[in-house]
Amino acid sequence: MHNLFFYANVCHVCKAYGKEIQLKKCGGCKMISYCNKEHQKHHWPQHKDLCKAINKILNNNATSYIFDNLHTSHIESWVQVKMNLMLLVGIEVSRPLRSYEEQMFKFIRSCTVCHNTKSLVDCSNCPNTSFCKEHQNTKTHKNLCSLFKLCFDLDVAFMKSKRIVPKVTVPLNTNKIFLPYNMQTFINSYWRETETLFKLWQYNIAYISEYLTRPLTLLFALEKLQGYENSDMIVHVIGANMMEVDGFEIWEIVLHWLPYLKSLKIVLIGPELSWGTLIQDVCNYCLQKGKNFSIDICGALYAEYECSKQFIKPNVIIGFNTGIHECIDIDSKTDTWAASIRIIAKQNCPLILTSYTFHETQQEQERLKTILRRNIPCKYSFKNPYSSLRPHRDYETEGVYYQNGYVLIYSHLNVIHKEMGKNDSKQYLN
Ligand SMILES: [Zn+2]
Ligand SMILES: [Zn+2]
Ligand SMILES: [Zn+2]
Ligand SMILES: [Zn+2]
Ligand SMILES: [Zn+2]
Repeated sequence: MHNLFFYANVCHVCKAYGKEIQLKKCGGCKMISYCNKEHQKHHWPQHKDLCKAINKILNNNATSYIFDNLHTSHIESWVQVKMNLMLLVGIEVSRPLRSYEEQMFKFIRSCTVCHNTKSLVDCSNCPNTSFCKEHQNTKTHKNLCSLFKLCFDLDVAFMKSKRIVPKVTVPLNTNKIFLPYNMQTFINSYWRETETLFKLWQYNIAYISEYLTRPLTLLFALEKLQGYENSDMIVHVIGANMMEVDGFEIWEIVLHWLPYLKSLKIVLIGPELSWGTLIQDVCNYCLQKGKNFSIDICGALYAEYECSKQFIKPNVIIGFNTGIHECIDIDSKTDTWAASIRIIAKQNCPLILTSYTFHETQQEQERLKTILRRNIPCKYSFKNPYSSLRPHRDYETEGVYYQNGYVLIYSHLNVIHKEMGKNDSKQYLN
């Protein structure tokens, strides 16, 4: 359980921190702390090989601490330093690092301003932040401190709780109605407090919104695209992984929200998945109205899925935090998105893409232009009112991010301008 996440200034085993706790660093790597000997002993079998790998790198570099003299206040260079060391250690340990082990590098104990790793004082409120002597009174941390504290509290709360898909009761709409203003107002209107999962309201909102963000982002986008009045809907979820499979029951909300919709099929497509079909039981109200809901899971790249027997043409395509722009070499073997995007464009239906930051939505737009070699007008590109409300620490910006924080909405990707000649459009469609 304790290996689900890592924070620099807490005991890795019992997650205790604060003034009363005397944390002791692991003498080998100096990158992980414990509140007492027992907790260190308890974790040692799981930590041993990583600790030794870090030590070997230290000896090779003739330094007592891996981050000595490497610190830089420039955020991007600092990320590079940390990632390079993580890669080196990963090669040495010759197994994939676990998520919390990666976090040991991403969120290494260092001054929040200059990234110095010596003579640090820890923040008294959040367990994520430290300061060097020069930067003890920095004000820049003030706004983030409570968010980091919330990240930690949620990590602990979610670690202890069972996975329950929240029950959000939306009545079957008989007329077209508009979504509430944002995620917060949606939850306030439709989630009954009697089903409290956590004591604190803020934790409940964070937890529920992690599930609701996917179907509600779809509904929000459909609203921006002038609504949806067909009786059938096939949704392709591209770049899907196990996170999308978890809690898919919640998609029934779409059947409730759209009054004309009778049949909903969600197709999850992504190479990390296996293959299968799930017919989901719907509620009695849906049964009475003859509404049905099913899920196809396709463990393939989009291009492969399109060639398979299972392929069915979509009404809308959506990708959650897909990061299409992330591959550096476009059309190289590692860039599986370029081929997929060309096939997605041929479906001639709306495409919705979410990302963590506004900068990423711009990068996604640029990448689509590059892959399809044309300018594609975007219907909406901004903050997503239906993003998750659960913050996650972001080592790249040193702030926090939210799932589906921003959203890009295209009516379709096959824009052929009227002023173009016939030959031009042919060329662009290839
Ligand atoms: Zn402890
Ligand atoms: Zn160690
Ligand atoms: Zn400093
Ligand atoms: Zn703090
Ligand atoms: Zn229902």
